Amino acid sequence: MSTPPPARRPESPADSELFDESRPPRDRRASLGRLLSLARVEWKLIAGGMVFLSIGSLLTLQVPQQMGKVVDSSLRSGDHGSINRLVLVILGLALVNGAAMSARHMMFAISGERIVARVRTLLFERILAQEIGFFDRRRTGELTSRLSSDTVMIQNAVSVNVSMGLRNITMALGALGYATFMSPSLTAVMMSVVPPIAVASVVYGRRIRKLSQKVQDALAEASQVAEESVSGIRTVRSFAAEPKEAARYGATIERSFRLAVRRSWAGAMFMAATSTAGFVAVALVLWYGAGLIDGGQMSAGRLMSFLIYAMLIGVSLGSLADTWVDFMRSLGATERVFGLIDRVPAIPLEGGRTLAHPTGRVVFDQVGFAYPSRPDIQVLDGVALEMAPGEVVAVVGPSGAGKSTLSSLLARFYDPQAGRVLLDGEDLRELDPGWLRRRIGTVAQEPILFATSVAENIRYGRPEASDAEVEAAARAANAHDFIVRFPEGYATLVGERGVQLSGGQKQRVAIARAVLKDPLLLILDEATSALDAESEHLVKEALERLMRGRTTLIIAHRLSTVMGADRVLVLDGGRIVQAGSHRALMAEEGLYRRLVERQFVAA
Ligand code: ATP
Repeated sequence: MSTPPPARRPESPADSELFDESRPPRDRRASLGRLLSLARVEWKLIAGGMVFLSIGSLLTLQVPQQMGKVVDSSLRSGDHGSINRLVLVILGLALVNGAAMSARHMMFAISGERIVARVRTLLFERILAQEIGFFDRRRTGELTSRLSSDTVMIQNAVSVNVSMGLRNITMALGALGYATFMSPSLTAVMMSVVPPIAVASVVYGRRIRKLSQKVQDALAEASQVAEESVSGIRTVRSFAAEPKEAARYGATIERSFRLAVRRSWAGAMFMAATSTAGFVAVALVLWYGAGLIDGGQMSAGRLMSFLIYAMLIGVSLGSLADTWVDFMRSLGATERVFGLIDRVPAIPLEGGRTLAHPTGRVVFDQVGFAYPSRPDIQVLDGVALEMAPGEVVAVVGPSGAGKSTLSSLLARFYDPQAGRVLLDGEDLRELDPGWLRRRIGTVAQEPILFATSVAENIRYGRPEASDAEVEAAARAANAHDFIVRFPEGYATLVGERGVQLSGGQKQRVAIARAVLKDPLLLILDEATSALDAESEHLVKEALERLMRGRTTLIIAHRLSTVMGADRVLVLDGGRIVQAGSHRALMAEEGLYRRLVERQFVAA
């Protein structure tokens, strides 16, 4: 039942690169490609949108012609029949154009929604697939803002921006075509204001883009602060630190506000420049056009049509500049999102060998380890340890000795830098990590429950378990009695992280979850805080039942636990300094005896 080991994966990009905002243009082009490739899947809808876009633009471009004709007709003869006909044509054009516009909008919007839904799902999957070391270096708020705000910017880029951009390009080119056709010389006069506007666009566009990026970063920082304060509200409350947290949030908001004001100034100057230039162009066209009318080279109606085309060109180019700024902002978001999506986790979720009949023999072979986030601090140093199948090993040691780290390596949350961790003689790096973790049960010191029902929390251990199996697991964990005392029984909601349950109740739900999983190996992290005697007894009894016949690593804080273990390891400064039974260790002079005397909770 063995599967071949996974192919070697390429190195992940260095993390510092992932969220770097100032990447070289080559990467911006790559992101543009990725952005367009997202849109490619929706080509049918987008093509449909384009058809309606063309229809709408063609019709809109007809309107100024018709308007000019109305003016000329009324000036010439007051021919009411033809004026009425022309106005009806304009109304007809407006109606059809409205319908085409809404069809175009819907098609682009739906394709944008589909794309963003897909990107979000994919991004979330990829975030969850990252190794634990990745999460050590990230703030939750940062990752959730990737999911929420960055993906919205991508959606805008591929739907609104593309749709608006194409519309404006078509309109500008179409109107320019009509205008040139009507009067090349007048068109040349009008276009004389374009170069200064273009220069202003480039200068201000760049400035606005930089400021927008800074505003976005400041807002992300603010939402990280908010996230931390709200999720740690109990700590905040107990330190009466609400004003301090509010001030911390206020300071980040103040920073984003100041940046936003600077961005608004830049935007205002840009708008003033473009609208002035626009009116200058209109005045020039009127002045030159009046001369053409005087010389009999142009009718008043045609001059009016021309002016409307000129305005169409101005408006289209103006919103094209806005769209471009938006689009560039989205490219930044796209880079960040794809940086995450493409990141290859240092430890994959699946892939590798599985063992047909694992017995649960665990060996730590000269293991040396430092956390990836603090590579220069050696946490474990030459740890050698053998656990026979079914053996219960208690690890004790001062705080920070590396006890929890041992259990994290066993679950392969991290890989050691030196030595190996083996299960039945196989290096964990060769085994399928998913297969391995499905064989490990964990009861943490502070079990984290999900904000659903008690039953769902227990079922997390084995999703396909029946109600009867869930109940049997709860009984084995001494949890059934307290659960049925709730009015809602197993359907009782436990609140976020399980806040609506007591410490002892949470422990027992976590034990039930492990019972249901029926693991080969167990990792228990005993609660340091004492539960009341009754709860303590129930938890202890449930744990003993759970440990039976399983290789168990307990991070022990209680005297009764170490006394009941087959073997006790004393860890200090990342090394095993003593090993043996409680009785043997008590007979020695050493750290263990001092720990027992000073530190252990007598149960
Ligand atoms: P305690 O009894 O207080 O829980 P412990 O013996 O379980 O302590 P570990 O949690 O294994 O100790 O920590 C060992 C060392 O590794 C400590 O110095 C700690 O600061 C560091 N450490 C723990 N977790 C991480 C992490 N995710 N990233 C970086 N360093 C860490």
